[in-house]
Amino acid sequence: MVEQGGDFGGTWYWNRYPGVQCDIESYVYLPLLEEIGYVPRWRYAPGEEIRQHARAIGRHFDLYRDVCFRTQATELCWHDAELEWTVHTDRDDRIRARHVVISSGTLSRAKLPGIPGIETFKGHTFHTSRWDYDYTGGDASGGLHGLADKRVALIGTGATAIQVVPHLGRDAEHLYVFQRTPSSVDVRGNRPTDPGWAASLTPGRQRRRRDNFLAVPRPTTEVSSASPSTPSWPAGSSTRSTASSSPPASRSASPASPPDSSRCTAGAVSP
Ligand SMILES: Cc1cc2nc3c(=O)[nH]c(=O)nc-3n(C[C@H](O)[C@H](O)[C@H](O)COP(=O)(O)OP(=O)(O)OC[C@H]3O[C@@H](n4cnc5c(N)ncnc54)[C@H](O)[C@@H]3O)c2cc1C
Repeated sequence: MVEQGGDFGGTWYWNRYPGVQCDIESYVYLPLLEEIGYVPRWRYAPGEEIRQHARAIGRHFDLYRDVCFRTQATELCWHDAELEWTVHTDRDDRIRARHVVISSGTLSRAKLPGIPGIETFKGHTFHTSRWDYDYTGGDASGGLHGLADKRVALIGTGATAIQVVPHLGRDAEHLYVFQRTPSSVDVRGNRPTDPGWAASLTPGRQRRRRDNFLAVPRPTTEVSSASPSTPSWPAGSSTRSTASSSPPASRSASPASPPDSSRCTAGAVSP
């Protein structure tokens, strides 16, 4: 395993902004709950709980000894003669592999808005996925005391902003929120996990809950009989896009290609 971050967690390693939580129910969203023997403490788990769960998975499956953290895969080369890949990294590693699985995610690279002047702005700026607690003070549960005398501008009103705004609004001297495109917002209804319910869970529970979550309501020809609870998003989708671990077809080299050729895909390993 080659991972740019300093630990397991992916999205939840990088995103530690105040208020960060999953917005798909944690009993469905967190992977391998039964295997690890863990029941999330909240219906929508805080990011830190998810990150710690990812670390627990790493310990449970003894993955820490096999991973190169703080290492970026920079190039993949397929060699027809050897029928294998070479994975190049920014630490000058050359790793030979018969199979390569790309799971670099879709939301793991911070994207700054292309606002003219952003590069010359003199104030302190950062992206929510690289939250600067040295500057703001506090932690993921809030208490951003460093902003008490600051005028803060937040750009965007997506799912992340909705989680951050209550903290910034409370702790900053003044908060300006810039909204280009309004998003629809529903009631989260977060609540602690009921210990009685947790104790009653039986084997296969996560699979059953996921199947239920992914179930597509049967289409009906009569519009008037459609259930008001029919979700308005495709089954299994999130308010944020989920990642695919499949490399794009154009980037995967086939062993059936002409022999003795090598092809490299620099930069193909990042989204
Ligand atoms: C704040 C936030 C909240 C979210 N909440 C939800 C939710 O509630 N429900 C939901 O379904 N989805 C949610 N998502 C989407 C989330 O991205 C996915 O659910 C999931 O985490 C994707 O997992 P992944 O392993 O595919 O990618 P990631 O978790 O993004 O992991 C990809 C990893 O690849 C590493 N990487 C990338 N390129 C390289 C490279 N070249 N070399 C080495 N390492 C590399 C990155 O450092 C990263 O650690 C959320 C996303 C964000 C940002």
